[in-house]
Amino acid sequence: MTGFPNRPPAQRLESASYRIGGVSLVEGVTMDVRYGEVLALVGPNGAGKSTLLGLLAGDLAPTEGAVSLDDRALVDWIAKELARARGVLLQANQVAFSFTARKVIEMGRAPWIGTDHSDDDPRAIAAAIAATDVSHLTARAFPTLSGGEKARVSLARVLAQDTRIVLLDEPTAALDLRHQEEVMRIARGLAAEGRAVIVVLHDLSLAAAYADEVAILARGCLVAHGSPDEVLTAERVESVYDIPVRVLRDEDTGRPIIIPRRTH
Ligand code: ADP
Ligand code: MG
Repeated sequence: MTGFPNRPPAQRLESASYRIGGVSLVEGVTMDVRYGEVLALVGPNGAGKSTLLGLLAGDLAPTEGAVSLDDRALVDWIAKELARARGVLLQANQVAFSFTARKVIEMGRAPWIGTDHSDDDPRAIAAAIAATDVSHLTARAFPTLSGGEKARVSLARVLAQDTRIVLLDEPTAALDLRHQEEVMRIARGLAAEGRAVIVVLHDLSLAAAYADEVAILARGCLVAHGSPDEVLTAERVESVYDIPVRVLRDEDTGRPIIIPRRTH
């Protein structure tokens, strides 16, 4: 799982900061995101993960430093091109109107209207519905879905968008055990197709199991970035999260499993 080191980075953050009202939400982050890899972005609540994802998405402009996609600064991209290059699953899956789940998923194809790729709409929509296990929900009104069902339908919308960069903000937060694993398997599948996948996660063991690389943010700063083994040491997790932890090994995969130390 070494990725494609000879390819240019999909995205590059260079000393990128995002400051608002005298507060620094992201501070001087320098990091490359590569095609063919899953990058897990972790860190405590309020660390700046969603803000960093917003910078990578081009939804927020850095107040200092630069963020690029395919070697071009995001500020130089036009919205329609950007929508064909990167898909974003936001943390809150809010849809204002009472669209059906199918309609929400179909909206993922909007950036391709008027291009040759729109011929691919039915296939992309069907594949996204199958991958996220939501075929039984497509006729339902989106606001009536459970939190986990909304999350999966929203992920289907992003998959249908069929972008080379996929940014997912806590896609597993509302999901049951099986669907968490399935979402991470989808992320791995996207990377295997050569896409760059950046996924914000809270479950460090899930990050360790599925990510090629892990980046830890704390108070807006990038604390560490590297393989799960390099980054998720007990010492580092304890200092970032301020809680004693134990790092075990998965018997089958050898990947780290991080659990809090408990005294009862
Ligand atoms: P995370 O996703 O890691 O939980 P966020 O990126 O959402 O963190 O937010 C980082 C910090 O910035 C939090 O403390 C949050 O309350 C704060 N924050 C987010 N947006 C704004 C804003 N527009 N103005 C001021 N503070 C904000
Ligand atoms: Mg967040």
